[in-house]
Amino acid sequence: MTETLSHKRLIRLVRSPASDGVGVFCIRDAKTQTFYVFHEIPNDIGGRGFAVHRLGLGDLYHVRIGTPAQCSCECLGFLRHGNCKHIQGLLALAHAGKL
Ligand SMILES: [Zn+2]
Repeated sequence: MTETLSHKRLIRLVRSPASDGVGVFCIRDAKTQTFYVFHEIPNDIGGRGFAVHRLGLGDLYHVRIGTPAQCSCECLGFLRHGNCKHIQGLLALAHAGKL
């Protein structure tokens, strides 16, 4: 199992979306490990869009990755800081050629 470093977090693709479009990734930091189910959604405004579902809690985020200007997410972290672990994680997986 390979892990991709995204800042101080590790993101790991648990299930590849290659077969049916639905994937699972895990983001782990020093204290916690969180699993997310995701699938790519059609997006014609630039970048790539993903619906990301946090397992167990039901939180659903629409995450868009691409150039820095194209990146967006619906979580509090992005609203406050303009960046978040969902974007960083998906970007890391995309750059690693896993998406
Ligand atoms: Zn986010």
